Amino acid sequence: MRSDPGRLRFEISAREGAARCGRLHTASGIVETPAFIPLATHGTVRSLASSEVAALGYQLVLANTFHLLLSPGPERISALGGLHRFMGWERAILTDSGGFQVFSLAHGGVADEIKGRRRGQLGQGSVLEIGEDGVRFRSYVDGSERSLGPEDSMAVQAALASDVALAFDECTPYHADRDYTARAMERTHRWLDRCVAWHGRNGPPRQALFGIVQGGVHEDLRRISAERTCAAAIDGIAIGGTLGREKEQMRGVVALTAPRLPEDAPRHLLGIGEPDDLVEGIALGIDLFDCAVPTRLARHGMALAPLPRSRFRFDVRRAEFAEDAAPLVEGCPCASCASHSRAYVHYLSRAEELTGVRLLVEHNLAYLERLVSGARAAIARQRFSDYRAAILSGAAPWAALTERAR
Ligand SMILES: [Zn+2]
Repeated sequence: MRSDPGRLRFEISAREGAARCGRLHTASGIVETPAFIPLATHGTVRSLASSEVAALGYQLVLANTFHLLLSPGPERISALGGLHRFMGWERAILTDSGGFQVFSLAHGGVADEIKGRRRGQLGQGSVLEIGEDGVRFRSYVDGSERSLGPEDSMAVQAALASDVALAFDECTPYHADRDYTARAMERTHRWLDRCVAWHGRNGPPRQALFGIVQGGVHEDLRRISAERTCAAAIDGIAIGGTLGREKEQMRGVVALTAPRLPEDAPRHLLGIGEPDDLVEGIALGIDLFDCAVPTRLARHGMALAPLPRSRFRFDVRRAEFAEDAAPLVEGCPCASCASHSRAYVHYLSRAEELTGVRLLVEHNLAYLERLVSGARAAIARQRFSDYRAAILSGAAPWAALTERAR
């Protein structure tokens, strides 16, 4: 790890067990942690203007190198002043490396988990070759032959001028065997060195760089990868790759990996963000989470809710809500719930009106923001273990410390 406060400074203000709350000082302002990071995959958080995302309280969004490389292209975004100016977002931006998407073209097994996937979108692209220098593939936008490797990924992220860049990695799927996972991990470590070298010479002086721990579900590989990644000159650590098929296995991988990371560096768990995963991840010492769930659910008429027995969600399109005058979730402080009924969202969502998606995105993102801000407050007051238990047993985030869980 390196310590370069000009790029990133992380201060931890309180701890309870392994959980911690703190502040990440980026070139574009402060991010309070633990934080959930909404996906701005194509340079937009689906259906919302950047000002609306800020109004929800978010301080950091995640944009996607692979998709922005193909369209509209880093040159155009750079010519228009960088991604912050392009999307009208003054707060912090984290860009992923593109590795997850480009390897999903090859591995298929994680295709359904692809962030920002549109129907048929990636099915039209294909991988031509995977080698030491990266991946050659066919663009899903225009069929042209493209390539993405460690230096390319760093160059795109430099042109986008994000506050935090991720090193290029191979995200191995659950169905890859141990031997493949081990070889891919070793190559990811070599790519990390190339990313650090390129970034040191050419990267924006205030951009931070995170490395990614791989190793699949294999305990020894995760250990090796954590050690190797932490030895590089980076500013933070992400935990990536397959985390198993079930939540228990995922938590096992995180429980094994997190204690091997430096105490004072920020830790990002990639692609995870359902309500129970957030409180469990925070309990294990994770600071940052990103996930497609709040926006993806909204497209399918689903609202987040304090319902542990139905994966913290319900389908507002179900017939029983057609005449329901209650808000999506009673007591929810979001603007959707303040003004609109389940019956209205039910009707809009069934009619596939854009406003239906917007109201659900707003509710789902507000719900997760309250969940993590509640966790921060609970850690500061040494009440996180009560908060976690209340959330897991069905309390709403805004009532978890004041009301007995249902
Ligand atoms: Zn709401």
